[in-house]
Amino acid sequence: MAKCMALVVAAGRGSRFGGELPKQWRDLGGRPVLRHSLAAFAAHPQVDAVSVVIHPDDRNHYDAAAAGLGLPAPVSGGATRQDSVRLGLEALVGQAPDVVLIHDGARPFVDSGVITRVIAALDRHPGAIPALPVHDTLKRGDGGLIGQTVPRDGLFRAQTPQGFRYAGILAAHRAAAGRELTDDAAVAEQYGLAVALVAGSEDNVKITTAEDLTRAAARFAGAGETRVATGFDVHRFTAGSHVTLCNLQIPHDAGLEGHSDADVALHALTDALLGTISAGDIGRHFPPTDPRWKGCDSAVFLAHAGNLVKARGGQIMFLDLTVICERPKVGPHRAAMAARVAEILDLPQHRVSVKATTTEGLGFTGRREGIAAQAVATVRLP
Ligand code: MG
Repeated sequence: MAKCMALVVAAGRGSRFGGELPKQWRDLGGRPVLRHSLAAFAAHPQVDAVSVVIHPDDRNHYDAAAAGLGLPAPVSGGATRQDSVRLGLEALVGQAPDVVLIHDGARPFVDSGVITRVIAALDRHPGAIPALPVHDTLKRGDGGLIGQTVPRDGLFRAQTPQGFRYAGILAAHRAAAGRELTDDAAVAEQYGLAVALVAGSEDNVKITTAEDLTRAAARFAGAGETRVATGFDVHRFTAGSHVTLCNLQIPHDAGLEGHSDADVALHALTDALLGTISAGDIGRHFPPTDPRWKGCDSAVFLAHAGNLVKARGGQIMFLDLTVICERPKVGPHRAAMAARVAEILDLPQHRVSVKATTTEGLGFTGRREGIAAQAVATVRLP
């Protein structure tokens, strides 16, 4: 498979935006604007790595926006967007990607469908961009009056990520250095590269003005549908020295039996998340009969469910987990368990709750035959 890298450009100083903080670092739904697109590319199965171009003064903002995503150090941009892209492309020479997706850091709502369509078109074309047809009638103004009605036939609005075969766009940017072109597709066109149009998304807006940011924030605050779903799981005790709960090894005089690492807590959370998008259960995605999942780290299952929710445009609002057992004592590990779940799903910690209870000596948990876990996931879908 082609090696695909995303190059996210976030070096702008936001002179059109007003206020002192450039738009890519402003808050949107509890995260910096840039974080949303970084997370979208990092979660996409066909994107191998994500590289970001920033203004060197913005390193602190970058570190906050990229925390936990495991990205390489950012590249320092230039005086114009075009310079920044060229410097970003030059910085990838050693990694020699086959294709590169160049994305505006101020387009936080890019979704996996758009990314997939751009990558797919690069099999057949040296370049491809997402775009939408122009439906409004276009007028050219002249001193406050209409000077001319511009035919809109065949006109498209260009979005990002704009994808290119790497060698071609690098050569094109080198050739265009010093000339001012409006986007990377224009750089490719000047160099004679054919650039295909694929379907963009109306949601994939660019945040340019303060009003754009207000509208984007409203999307997080009110729009869409809220789904709540539950998950439940049980694993029985077997010989061992620890149990795995929320990806943490907790010392115990028994282990839990299971095909994977038997992390009963993450299994319940995974099923709850899958439930919010009617995506079946953990056994459908990771069949216990499949040797690939033997001894598997259950964080893989939870991250997969989280990515499926994100791919649907969903936002995980809250996860509540209850672990049911007499022993081991879960209380002392609650905070660390919640923190680990938040880390796996790239969520703020206040969106995860972990609780524990016993069944007062009754039933199978009371007889210390195993551990049960139940989870409730609340997800907002567009
Ligand atoms: Mg299980």
